[in-house]
This record gives sequence, structure tokens and C-alpha cells, in this order.
Amino acid sequence: MSARVLVVDDIPTNVKLLEARLSAEYFDVVTAYNGPDALAICERAECDIVLLDVMMPNMDGFEVCRRIKSNPATHHIPVVIVTALDQPSDRIRGLEAGADDFLTKPVSEVALISRVRSLSRLKMVTDELRMRAVTSKEIGIQSPEIEAVADTGRKGRILVVDDRAGSYERIVAALSSEHTVEVEPDPNEALFHAAEGNYDVFIVSLGFENFDGLRLCSQIRSLERTRSIPVLAVTEADNNAKLVRGLEIGINDYLIRPIDKNEMLARVRTQIKKKRYTERLRDNVQSSIEAAVTDVLTGLYNRRYMETHLTTLVEQSAARGKPISALVLDIDFFKSINDTYGHDAGDDVLREFALRMRKSIRNIDLACRIGGEEFVVVMPETDKAVATMVAERLRRKIAADPFPIEQGARAIEVTISIGIAALNGAEDNAAAILKRADQALYRAKRDGRNRVVPDAA
Ligand code: GH3
Ligand code: MG
Ligand code: MG
Repeated sequence: MSARVLVVDDIPTNVKLLEARLSAEYFDVVTAYNGPDALAICERAECDIVLLDVMMPNMDGFEVCRRIKSNPATHHIPVVIVTALDQPSDRIRGLEAGADDFLTKPVSEVALISRVRSLSRLKMVTDELRMRAVTSKEIGIQSPEIEAVADTGRKGRILVVDDRAGSYERIVAALSSEHTVEVEPDPNEALFHAAEGNYDVFIVSLGFENFDGLRLCSQIRSLERTRSIPVLAVTEADNNAKLVRGLEIGINDYLIRPIDKNEMLARVRTQIKKKRYTERLRDNVQSSIEAAVTDVLTGLYNRRYMETHLTTLVEQSAARGKPISALVLDIDFFKSINDTYGHDAGDDVLREFALRMRKSIRNIDLACRIGGEEFVVVMPETDKAVATMVAERLRRKIAADPFPIEQGARAIEVTISIGIAALNGAEDNAAAILKRADQALYRAKRDGRNRVVPDAA
């Protein structure tokens, strides 16, 4: 899928020029001639990347950029400021407005295509993550965009890889005001060093005495531990070919010597913000995966997870000739706890029960809440006799210590009934085991509750 580029400029010839060059590289192009139109297109999610002119009447490019970046709905869209201004102060204004990069007019073909390509690649990765993160928003996990908009990009951990003392000392002096900075002067040691620390950005010189800095950049990109950490390359002014190679390899940004201190600060902040945002997105996806298999009230696995997992575990055990057991547990007269002390007290009992249950089983045992006050524990490598002992121990523990409710103001007696079944021959399966355990539980209830009953098999 080719990226869709929004070109924003108040002068139609400029728009046409960029449109032609991008179309020739098979990008889709949308256009806008003023800031408000551009913002509307971004909000409707009709573009993957924005090329933004600075000098426009009414709302200039800096302001458009600031608005895109401060709106959680559009914050993730990469913005490249295209400017005729070539003063460092203007670049910094652009970066501080949140721009991901800028290009100076007249725009070089190489710079244009390589930046648009690398930023749209990044956008596709974040889009994928954002899509998966949507479900977690629905279940109330904080949206990562809101935190990203508030992030200042400071207090990062930076590793500078540069063998010239005069150069790295200046870099360290400039960055130390707002980050923690370490230096690795030996490029041969740099990869190890990079993989060990918990860095937010690598700054890599491309001008080593006897070493190709691009090799290091490419190693950083292929190593699992460092793959997603941004790389800022530092290069001499006349080294365009090397830069283009670097961007293809996947460096995230670059600084040209002599380094402008403020530009470096701004670029480092941008990279740190982007990295933290992507990390939050990943965490968010992770949490939503966990949420999909977890019961919210007790933190135990839910029924869906238990069912898929039990099938796998039973098949493995059957194939290897190992035992496996399942307990089905049900709190006795739970309805009357709710009726007598209220629903909140009932919830307290459920949480406390889950806690006690978790404490009395092993790590490899699988504890799940499969319904209101019904639970299942799956115990791999455990035969019915041992499972019965475990169940009996748990039953006694529950009955012996009253459960605190109403913030500990009172305590009530709770008992449970437990049915047990174990894998019985190679033809047995998960559903049959659960069914037998359930029937055993029914007998436990019928025979007076507060007891453990193994199945008849
Ligand atoms: P038995 O000894 O036969 O198991 O009787 P019981 O009252 O425990 O069983 P029953 O199935 O009749 O009642 C279960 C009750 O659990 C009914 C339902 O309102 C309550 N319940 C289900 N989910 C929750 C929950 O998440 N929180 C609370 N507080 N109660 C719940
Ligand atoms: Mg019950
Ligand atoms: Mg019940």
C-alpha cells in the first residue's frame, strides 16, 4: 500500500511541483492551500504524512504543525516542514512545534523521497499498533496519545558513539542539561554497550578513523534489543551519499557538523517522544491482550482462556502419558451472601477467594474464574489423588478463616464445594474432564456442601 501524502502550500505552483515528484514515486497525493483545510484533512484521517509550507497567510505552518501535534486524534501523523527559511532558528521553531523533520526549498529530490519514505514506513508501524490498541481504549486503559501530547521529550538516556574527544565533549555538554548522557569512544564496543544500557537514543558519528559508522547503525537495527531505539547520525556537510544510505538502513534522523546545539536538543527530544509513544502503544497492545484473557474482578484467567488452554494441556498430557487434573470450585450459598451483606461484600469475597486459591496452588497451575462464583484450577502433571489433597487443603483453609468484608469491619464464614476429575486414558479430552468434574461438584452440593468429591472414573 502506498502512503498518502498531504501537500500544503498557499502557492499552487509549489503544490504542483511536489505533487508531480511524489506521484512519480507512486505516492498518493492530496493537497490543501491553507492551514484550516489541512487540519480538516488530518482530522478525517485522509493522509499518512504532511508536507507543510511555513509562510502562509492567516495560519502559518508552525501553527498548523502545533495543532496537528497537540490533538490526540492527529498527533501520530508525521509532519515535514518545507521552508525557504534556512536559519537554524526557524528549523528549531519547526521542531519545537513538533515537526518530525524539515526540508529546505529548493527541495532536493533525494531528501524529499527518502524522508517521506522513512516517515511513512514508521507511520504504518504505528497505525498497526494503534489499531490493536483501540480495544484497550474501549475497556478504559488510558489512551497513549494523551500521554504523548504531554511528553516533553526530556530526561532521556543517551549513548553517544564518537571517537573524537573534541566532538563528543561538546555533544555531552549540550545534552546534559536535560538528559543523562554516556559516551562510547570505541565503535567496536558500541553495540555491546548499546544492548546493555536502557537507552532512549543513540547518537552515532559517521566519521570514525577506522570504522564505518553505518555498519554500527545497521547492527543496531538488526539486534532485537536495540532495534526500536532511535539512531541520530552525525555527519559532515558534504556527505550526502552516506546520509541517503543511512536513511535506507533505518537511521531516524541526522545532524550535520558543525552541530547547532539547539537543533540537536530539539531533534533528540523529538526522537525520545516518538520512542516513548511507540513504547506506550506496544504496552497498550500488551495490556489489551491481557485484558482479553483476564477476569477484571479477580485478575484470574477468564473462561475463554481456560477453555483454549485446557484443550492444549490435556492433549499434551495425553500424548506424553502424563497425568493432569482439573478442579471445579463453587462458593456455597453465595447468593445469600449477596442478599444479606450486599453485592459489594459479595465482590470482596470473590477477590479474597481468588487470592487464597492462588496462594495454595503452584505457578504452573492455571486458575480461572469461569462464571459468577465458579472457578476452575487446571493442574498439569498431577494425578487425582494429589489433586484431591490440594482441594481438601484449600477447602479447609477457606472454611477455617472468615472472610473480611466492609473494609474489614466484619468477617463472614464462607465455604466451598469442589469437584475433581483427572485425565483418564488417551481417549479422554478436555470437555469430558470438565463435565465429570462438574458432575462431581453437583454431588458435593447435593451431599451437603463444604466438601471435596472426585469423579467416579
Ligand atoms: P450453591 O451453594 O448451590 O452454589 O448456591 P449459590 O447461592 O452459591 O449459587 P447460585 O448459582 O444460586 O447463586 C450464585 C449467585 O452469584 C447469583 C449471582 O447474583 C451471584 N453473582 C454472580 N456473579 C457475581 C459477581 O460478580 N459479584 C457478586 N457479588 N455476585 C455475583
Ligand atoms: Mg455457589
Ligand atoms: Mg453457582
